[in-house]
Amino acid sequence: AVCYLKNIYIFVTCKVNCSFYFKIGACRHGDRCSRLHNKPTFSQTISLLNIYLHNLQNSAQSADGLHCAVSDVEMQEHYDEFFEEVFTEMEEKYGEVEEMNVCDNLGDHLVGNVYVKFRREEDAEKAVMDLNNRWFNGQPIHAELSPVTDFREACCRQYEMGECTRGGFCNFMHLKPISRELRRELYGRRRKRHRSRSRSRERRSRSRDRRRDRERRRSRDRERSGRF
Ligand SMILES: [Zn+2]
Ligand SMILES: [Zn+2]
Repeated sequence: AVCYLKNIYIFVTCKVNCSFYFKIGACRHGDRCSRLHNKPTFSQTISLLNIYLHNLQNSAQSADGLHCAVSDVEMQEHYDEFFEEVFTEMEEKYGEVEEMNVCDNLGDHLVGNVYVKFRREEDAEKAVMDLNNRWFNGQPIHAELSPVTDFREACCRQYEMGECTRGGFCNFMHLKPISRELRRELYGRRRKRHRSRSRSRERRSRSRDRRRDRERRRSRDRERSGRF
């Protein structure tokens, strides 16, 4: 009888929730999953599916070692720029962002996924509705409310310690880190916002200046190295 009850228990709990979908907001079985994907009707977090696909080009380029060393720096810059652009746009259009993360995984259901956690649920809802009518890099954006609230639960702990043996096809999130400089810029200025909202215009133009500086610096470096 205990065994019978245990089987019922397992059957019921499996049917109730897919733990992958619940924790990570994506599961490799997609809509064919035998467990339940409980899509939230409200959430602070949205996911933009398969939107950052540049990492595929990176692996294609890494055939020769020397070129790879140069292109790693470029990859990071490209990624930082993408991150800053999306982050800034989310805040300007929809509302304050608490946290944003990008998956470095290669599995179809996780590759290039961007997760944006807003401070307010209303902003997340607004963002999903608007983003689903928009395009990015010639592709329609697919945005949805995500059940992920705690990224520590969604992340692969082994990856963070540099020992995930499943590589890009791991089913937990492998988050792609932004540069320390950009982290300070995006999350640091957020702390100041509470002190003064009237300075947002000024901040925006400063951010543009910074971008311009970076571009200038990059073309100068390029000239100097004579590689391009
Ligand atoms: Zn599932
Ligand atoms: Zn992993």
